[in-house]
Amino acid sequence: MNPRLDLIRRRCADLDADAALLTFLPHVRWAVGFTGSNGVLVVTPDEAHFVTDGRYATQAEAEVQGAEVHVPGYRLFEHVAEAELLAGAETVLLQGDHLPFTEVERLRQLLQEVRFLPVGGLLDEDVAAKTEEEIARVRAAQAVTDEVFAAILPFIGPGVSERDLAAEIVYQHLKRGCERMAFEPIVASGLRGALPHARPTTKTLRPGELVVLDFGGVLDGYCADMTRTVAVGDPGEEARGVYQVVLDAQQAALDAAAAGRTGRDLDQAARQVIEAAGLGEHFPHSLGHGVGLEAHEWPRLSSRVEDTLPAGATVTVEPGVYLPERFGVRIEDLVVLREGGCENLTASTKELLVL
Ligand code: ZN
Ligand code: ZN
Repeated sequence: MNPRLDLIRRRCADLDADAALLTFLPHVRWAVGFTGSNGVLVVTPDEAHFVTDGRYATQAEAEVQGAEVHVPGYRLFEHVAEAELLAGAETVLLQGDHLPFTEVERLRQLLQEVRFLPVGGLLDEDVAAKTEEEIARVRAAQAVTDEVFAAILPFIGPGVSERDLAAEIVYQHLKRGCERMAFEPIVASGLRGALPHARPTTKTLRPGELVVLDFGGVLDGYCADMTRTVAVGDPGEEARGVYQVVLDAQQAALDAAAAGRTGRDLDQAARQVIEAAGLGEHFPHSLGHGVGLEAHEWPRLSSRVEDTLPAGATVTVEPGVYLPERFGVRIEDLVVLREGGCENLTASTKELLVL
């Protein structure tokens, strides 16, 4: 049997629903193992059905565990109705935060006797609480990304463009077996470093600049995510000072990180250090986020979120300080939340590297 289907059934029972129709592919993958780009999963108290299109017939048979595979063609919802996969269900949960309103309406048209209930965050907690096997995959992905960080350091120097460096980061990941990047790498040098989500440009690195590098590969479906800020030659006293504040803030959050705490607790631990240094207004984003089959998943580590963090969650801890038109510093590690503490999956040094 597939224990994840039982977790889905428990969510249905909690919400007085008879079944769930899952459409969000990372969660469908989590539930039954399907890695393709089109499919829906129907989970009823006694059955599970996976519906996909003809492109994925062979792949679905090989991958899907614990659900009967249906390959009707492109009209997946129509098949759910025609094959009566939801027969007898009165209330059916939908992943409201991942399904367009028009699709919800289409289901309601097709199955007028069913009450479809879009729910936000339906499986977020279940997906976040990773098994040791999943943690091992995140660890393996992060190990490759750490290797890539070491491999690109010799390329960093005056005259190299941000885009050259981004290309090298992508190349080194693919060479090491990653299937893709978890997100487009951020390479932000000098005053562009003050933009927390800068896209790499043709700008070249200049002596004395800080460079924010934020990237992660995907290995076996699981994502890595890390940020390091390095200097091209001596960045000066002020930049070194800001770097130390961010490093201390990150350490405070890492010291506070454990299962059972809230995202707000961790965010506050880091934010207090940055505020005490008089830089509070320059830390404009939240502390971190969950990482897994998605580069950004629940939970958020934010001053506005009081959800309790589950054991086994793999989350980032990434405070940053950005001085507009001048420079930015961000340091990001990926950690596993355990009872009483956290395990850091990121091995790269956090000493300020002057290259
Ligand atoms: Zn990142
Ligand atoms: Zn991140």
